[in-house]
Amino acid sequence: MLFFNTAYSQQSSPYDEEEIAEKVDSVMQKMTLTDKVGEMTQLSIDMISEGQPYNLDEPHQLSDEKLKEVLVENRVGSILNVGGHAYTAEHWREIIRKIQEVAMNEKPTGIPVIYGIDTIHGANYTLGSTLFPQQIAIAATWDPQFAYRGAEVGAYETRASYIPWAFSPVLDIGRDARWPRLWETFGEDVHLAKQMGAAMVEGYQGEDAGGPYHVAATMKHFLGYSLPITGKDRTQAWIPERQLREYVLPTFKAAVESGALTVMINSGEMNGIPVHTNKDILTGLLRDELGFEGIAVSDWEDIIYLQSRHKVAKTYKEAIELAVNAGVDMSMVPLDLQFPKLLKELVEEGRVSMDRIDEAVRRILTVKFKLNLFDTPYYDEGMYDKFGSEEFAKDSYDAAVEAVTLLKNNNDILPLSKDSRILVTGPNAHSLTALNGGWSRTWQGTDPQYDTEGKPTVLEALRSRMGESSVSYVEGTSIDSVINIDEAVTAAGNNDVAVVVVGESPYTEKPGDLTDLWLPEAQRNLVEAIAETGTPVIMVLVEGRPRIVSDIEPKTEAVLMGYLPGDEGGNAIADILLGDANPSGKLPITYPRYPNDLVTYDHNYTDQIDPFFGTNAFNPQWEFGHGLSYTTFEYSNMQIESSEFDAAGQTTVSVDVTNTGEHSGKEVVQLYASDLVASITPAVKRLRKFEKIQLDAGETKTVTFTLMPEDLAFVGRDNEWITEAGEFALHIGPLSETIVYKY
Ligand code: BGC
Repeated sequence: MLFFNTAYSQQSSPYDEEEIAEKVDSVMQKMTLTDKVGEMTQLSIDMISEGQPYNLDEPHQLSDEKLKEVLVENRVGSILNVGGHAYTAEHWREIIRKIQEVAMNEKPTGIPVIYGIDTIHGANYTLGSTLFPQQIAIAATWDPQFAYRGAEVGAYETRASYIPWAFSPVLDIGRDARWPRLWETFGEDVHLAKQMGAAMVEGYQGEDAGGPYHVAATMKHFLGYSLPITGKDRTQAWIPERQLREYVLPTFKAAVESGALTVMINSGEMNGIPVHTNKDILTGLLRDELGFEGIAVSDWEDIIYLQSRHKVAKTYKEAIELAVNAGVDMSMVPLDLQFPKLLKELVEEGRVSMDRIDEAVRRILTVKFKLNLFDTPYYDEGMYDKFGSEEFAKDSYDAAVEAVTLLKNNNDILPLSKDSRILVTGPNAHSLTALNGGWSRTWQGTDPQYDTEGKPTVLEALRSRMGESSVSYVEGTSIDSVINIDEAVTAAGNNDVAVVVVGESPYTEKPGDLTDLWLPEAQRNLVEAIAETGTPVIMVLVEGRPRIVSDIEPKTEAVLMGYLPGDEGGNAIADILLGDANPSGKLPITYPRYPNDLVTYDHNYTDQIDPFFGTNAFNPQWEFGHGLSYTTFEYSNMQIESSEFDAAGQTTVSVDVTNTGEHSGKEVVQLYASDLVASITPAVKRLRKFEKIQLDAGETKTVTFTLMPEDLAFVGRDNEWITEAGEFALHIGPLSETIVYKY
């Protein structure tokens, strides 16, 4: 029977929930056990390509023979990713068209394949697509509309590549600067990350993930991935339940409430248990408590690793038994075909129940219907004329320019006059790959041959604005070794100012593990040597996590944090340096001063780095929420509607913000609450509300926040959320007021 439909006029998924449930039932009635275990299998594209498995350098030419083996004989339900590098949209379309034709016309069930890919900051595996700032930079905008829009454009361009499933967003909380995936997170604060994550899910999925411009989102990585004790990727985390519920779970809960269709499981171990085998987490917490109904997919080879790395299974087969029984619906195998065979045996031997298999398959098919794959496995390519457009580039630019964060600006040295003579130096001054970071055209993002055409580096963007002759360039150092510091020093003497662009080169996952959080010595030497000439140093940080700069910071006049701002990062940084844009980013992380002082803003008093536990000893390089502007803002008239409220009530807190400077600008108004006395040690303060506003010079706006009892809650001794009666101090900017909450 042919399920394949060639009339692609359909604009959205045509069925409601009930109809989908009926359709799924009727498809499942015709499925054999072989069909079902195949559906639960996700293989790499390498497994259906010529000259494989696993050649990172060659573009994939699909192999007819392997397509038959994988899709027809083994009934594999999902394919993922791309090994080596990005393809053109045309090439992707050919690949997906072919896969769906074989799946839907030759496989006995005719069930379409669900293709998933790491669309992380745009459709980064499609050449010519729009690359957005990475998540950490999006968080620095403090405006969820950028998370939404970035995901929406990413979804559009991913669907334009005929792919309906993005492995994004990362909802892990980024509270450890050592962790190499910090830049993939929305930073250290739960409230900020929750808003951003939910917006990103909504941007990917829209009202209807089955439409031509939306895709399924993936909540990554459930649960407890981002807090490994060693700081190294995929090493063990120990997270007490109280902390798990307060800091780790809320982003996922918010994303489930936003309708996320899929979740990817944490590769690591939490509390001594590999999460892929933890039924309490994967079924108890995820399903029974959060009510999540979508697909739970394993991470890369993680069922295999249960045997080979985690040592909780003697055989691969036993590993599969553990994982599937714990609640894994789909195995990102992804490089061999044993999984479905062994899973089938497990069912025949009664070690995995048919009910568990049916539950997993039902979830997978439901998502396939929700994505409209049965009726429209891909939409007409003519529907995607905005792919790689100026309009999308502008969206990426807007996000980048609101992300870049001005951390220091002595004597208003910035913005620079366009008449100045500038030395541009440093390893990231002339690198687009550095601006984009990992997951950019390739997994590691390190290969400049795939840089998007026409997108300027910081150097190029400055030159295009100021003219070649005003901007000289000397590389100075690579990321970790000296190249020509002497030349840079000489050049500094001939210029009014030196823009030194330092930081990290791209990495993704384990390759980014560190033994030292300091900015590499060669780069610190470069900054120092230039500062010694007396030419003022503007340090621009292009990095995925805060590298320590406390020895050189005092020698700089200004510091700009660029994070990983994406393809428009060069333009955004240049516009801010030259005053064509006014910075409004705020740090979504605490920037540490020393590698041993990795303390988040919402620490307890006893965490403060002071031999006597002084209460003012918290001393990071820059605080969470910090970010300067070229104008000045004054806060006044903080008002609390009723300074007492109770469980049935709510109150409002308002404040006037005035732009007292000479330029229009944006300010992020941040409301923090401190629980003065609580039954568990309270955090010094917690971010509870924020709003980014725009103010013209001289303008005043009143910002009003509504405060509900749950906005003052924490997870108590019994691991339940509670708002305790008592006094709370509320802080907005330099102002504070006290409020009393009563039962
Ligand atoms: C990463 C995931 C990613 C997956 C597929 C894994 O190594 O942890 O974040 O989605 O690979 O590429």
